[in-house]
Amino acid sequence: METKFKALVVKEVDGVFVKVVENLTLADLPANEVLIKVSYSSINYKDALSASGNKGVTKKYPHVPGIDAVGKVVLSSVEEIKTDAPVLVTGYDLGMNTSGGFGEYISVPAAWVVPLPEAFTEQEAMYFGTAGLTAGLSVSGLINNGITPGKGEIVVSGATGGVGSLSIAILKHLGYKVVAVSGKNNAKLLEDTLKVDEIITREEFTARYDNRPLSKSEFAAGIDTVGGKILSGMLKSVNYNGVVTCCGMIASSQLDTSIFPFILRGVKLIGIDSVEISKDAKMQIWNLLSTAWKPDQLKEITQEVSLEELPKLLDLILLGNAKGRYILKHN
Ligand code: NDP
Repeated sequence: METKFKALVVKEVDGVFVKVVENLTLADLPANEVLIKVSYSSINYKDALSASGNKGVTKKYPHVPGIDAVGKVVLSSVEEIKTDAPVLVTGYDLGMNTSGGFGEYISVPAAWVVPLPEAFTEQEAMYFGTAGLTAGLSVSGLINNGITPGKGEIVVSGATGGVGSLSIAILKHLGYKVVAVSGKNNAKLLEDTLKVDEIITREEFTARYDNRPLSKSEFAAGIDTVGGKILSGMLKSVNYNGVVTCCGMIASSQLDTSIFPFILRGVKLIGIDSVEISKDAKMQIWNLLSTAWKPDQLKEITQEVSLEELPKLLDLILLGNAKGRYILKHN
């Protein structure tokens, strides 16, 4: 096939990483079992890292980022995945060292391909993307450990970011009270749209729990998306048998904690990985997100961008200035 397609290519020019929209051909993609025409991708913090030349995410450039993609199968060499089927790919190596969803086509192993849940449009699937899957896994981590809405407030950090805002939206949809920890003064998103019950600034939250091995019990559970002192603050301030999930390290990858929250309060710290979890586990969360866990505000918290708008947006996300979700629409 001679098909040409557009993609955002990141390459190193004189030691500087640049992002340019270019025409590629299918021969530029890796040889894999399933070729997909991508309709939407979504933009995550990890994409911003890949697009900035972060070798911890992407080892070889030129590279097309995009850890999420949804679209239709164009060619498949495996029986169970049919041509024209709507499918979803998130995580694994997509957009890291395998050409990702910021291109109009991707070529991936069959094991990465998930059928699009019937209750989802392609666009809705990307409203969630990896951020939503991670939010879903975090909420599920609380529920599976006995945190019901009656147990008390849930504190969520990185509240205006992708994982944070979607975690809040899902929790509110399920009837939980939510306290948002945020570095931004964004009452419109947090109060008007996401309807959080309280906002605590990042500085206040950090100062409140710093330098103490344990603090007053305040929250039933926490969903942390940033790491560092905010994560340790959550461990110190959740109730007896409280649960805290952690998935990200935008603030710090260090965790400074004593063992007191664990041995005196039975607190559980649950690590969340959305990348290498099994396809079955992913499908379970996708099915919940497309039905009982689907919040009403998805469209409201999401901005749609074009390939040409991506370079500026990726720079903004890298600086920690994400506001809600962003999806990329291919033509
Ligand atoms: P976003 O860029 O969408 O949001 C991150 C948010 O974190 C920002 O909007 C901001 O929210 C807050 N923030 C930014 N800088 C800092 C800082 N220096 N200190 C404290 N908070 C800060 O990212 P995502 O939601 O896509 O991802 C969040 C984290 O989760 C990332 O570290 C990402 O790598 C990780 N992740 C992990 C996954 C996994 O499988 N384990 C999957 C997906 C993401 P506010 O201003 O409201 O505080």
